[in-house]
Amino acid sequence: MAQFCRDGRSGVTAGSVTDTLGRPLRDLRISVTDRCNFRCVYCMPKEVFGRDYQFLEREQLLTFEEIERLTRIFTAHGVEKIRVTGGEPLLRRNLERLIGMLARIPGLDLTLTTNGSLLAKQAQALKDAGLQRITVSLDSLDNDVFTAMNDVDFPVDRVLAGIEAAAAAGLAPIKINMLVKRGVNERSVVPMARAFRGTGRILRFIEYMDVGHTNGWRMDDVVPAAEIIARINTEMPLEPVEPSYRGEVATRWRYRDGSGEVGVIASVTQAFCRDCTRARLSAEGSLYTCLFATKGHDLRGLLRGGASDAEIAGAIAAVWRVRDDRYSEIRSSETVGLPKVEMSYIGG
Ligand code: SAM
Ligand code: SF4
Ligand code: SF4
Repeated sequence: MAQFCRDGRSGVTAGSVTDTLGRPLRDLRISVTDRCNFRCVYCMPKEVFGRDYQFLEREQLLTFEEIERLTRIFTAHGVEKIRVTGGEPLLRRNLERLIGMLARIPGLDLTLTTNGSLLAKQAQALKDAGLQRITVSLDSLDNDVFTAMNDVDFPVDRVLAGIEAAAAAGLAPIKINMLVKRGVNERSVVPMARAFRGTGRILRFIEYMDVGHTNGWRMDDVVPAAEIIARINTEMPLEPVEPSYRGEVATRWRYRDGSGEVGVIASVTQAFCRDCTRARLSAEGSLYTCLFATKGHDLRGLLRGGASDAEIAGAIAAVWRVRDDRYSEIRSSETVGLPKVEMSYIGG
């Protein structure tokens, strides 16, 4: 049921809106491009995302002004947290201009997820534009493992240089996302934990998910969160930390000796759909209410067709009110083969 009130931030008559399972709309992930300079084997396998792959054309992408306008409308519906993502968001030209526009929206927690390849060059400009914190994906410190996973021979040192540049620019906290795939990088779990422990960087392990339909996902490829924690715990004892808010994606653990914490995003083995307050906006302006959705809802058509803010707000509320997504809770051998949108398109 939606409750409506006047919201001063956008001038839109909107308000907090909840879905059929009582989940409010609180977070928005905005994909600014479907392109990427990596071909991570679990996300954009080369055989599919090759030379002939049809990425979105420039005019199909939402402009920065369109993204800003939609973001203001979403905040009037209760969105408090924005994550800019992709594809690789730092490939979008002049991204710092968009960051500046979003950073001026009052009361928003603004962050960005990147593969870190272009971060050394851009970290300071992003910080100056108003970015508060950042997440960098890094799947191994072993260069052979890392290059095999990004599949474009991108060296780990350059991502580490990006992380250092982010720290020097004052982006904090810095989170590091490590996707763990069985037989590929599980041996990197403990060395990564060891390397980032005590540095203030928050390392988070992600279970490999069956997003999209190109990565050939199999349950056997998933390294369960419990196993990841057990591996670290053997060498560096851990204890659980209470979640800091409802809907926190990562389950948190701290080192018993006080040297920091790690998180695990157990979307496969410990689904957290019941607290999922996230919407996703694709680079061409489609609204998705689940990472595993089969179809989006076109907001670009409304923007470019002259709809008012109130009309767009109404359309968003109408989509959210009927939302009943809980894919990870009902994942089974039957659901794995369903048509799904690609992670690089929808934004991780
Ligand atoms: N290119 C940026 C990056 O890699 O950080 C942002 C987009 S990427 C899609 C966002 C996150 O999604 C990354 O941390 C990546 O590890 C994660 N991801 C991609 N494919 C995944 C999969 N099949 N299962 C779980 N996480 C995945
Ligand atoms: Fe690119 Fe990120 Fe997907 Fe890797 S995970 S292919 S860096 S979008
Ligand atoms: Fe949210 Fe869908 Fe993931 Fe469940 S499967 S947590 S509803 S995005």
